[in-house]
Amino acid sequence: MHVLILGGTTEARRLAELLHGTRGLELTSSLAGRVASPRLPSGDVRVGGFGGAEGLAAWIRDHAVDAVVDATHPFAGTMSFHAAEAAAATHVPLLALRRPGWVPAEGEQWHETGSLEEAALMLPALGRRIFLTTGRMGLSAFAALDDLWFLVRSVDAPEAPHPRSMEILLDRGPFTRDGERELLRRHRIDVVVTKDSGGAATAPKLTASREAGLPVVVIRRPSVPEGVSVVPDPERAARWIGHRLEQQSFRAID
Ligand code: NAP
Repeated sequence: MHVLILGGTTEARRLAELLHGTRGLELTSSLAGRVASPRLPSGDVRVGGFGGAEGLAAWIRDHAVDAVVDATHPFAGTMSFHAAEAAAATHVPLLALRRPGWVPAEGEQWHETGSLEEAALMLPALGRRIFLTTGRMGLSAFAALDDLWFLVRSVDAPEAPHPRSMEILLDRGPFTRDGERELLRRHRIDVVVTKDSGGAATAPKLTASREAGLPVVVIRRPSVPEGVSVVPDPERAARWIGHRLEQQSFRAID
């Protein structure tokens, strides 16, 4: 049984680790290739886009894939829709692995919004020194905000267009509450901007913001394509695959 994991997340790596070495299972993890030196999952890895939903469907056919797990980041909306389209076209079962989103804790000042562009419109009314943690893509949304200063944290350096007045902090999680608290203090941050990525690795910024009494602009997630089953953790995704592997072996014995 050949399983394709669409990855780029901690959960995708964990799933590959759980499945690696399972008898009768061939595993390929796929990465988009956005990050210069990615953390690689266990087992076979391929890197780079497939060429849209059609390209992915062709890859699934050419490599005799029996099941796909879309374990991409909750904000990788295009890939998730391509996966749904390609799975439907090839009649291959698809599961989405999505870590749950965050919920505001008591005292957190959330300003929820649907996009980076909407977030940019909200900022001038909220503060002047912005901690932007939405990644290096999409910074053009903030490029016209000349009166604001930005601390931009990302894994790799962002490219223009981006805000004129900014400092780049190259780093990747997990982060700690003490570290985040110190960062907010040192840079005299008065607003934090984040995607609702969920997960523990980057959540400490929410706690640190609450303690500092800062507002947080939270970008809501895109929806999972209709009809696709979703599980919240790698363990459940591994069970889904285990179940299919069993069914396949029974069919082989028959
Ligand atoms: P996206 O907008 O949904 O996808 C754009 C294109 O990138 C896709 O059409 C596909 O190209 C390619 N792609 C995306 N994920 C891929 C994968 N796992 N394997 C092969 N090709 C992939 O995705 P994105 O937001 O740019 O994210 C890119 C990757 O970074 C994802 O794998 C995601 O898990 C990871 N990531 C994203 C974020 C985020 O905030 N968006 C955060 C952390 C990690 P083709 O059409 O050519 O196939």
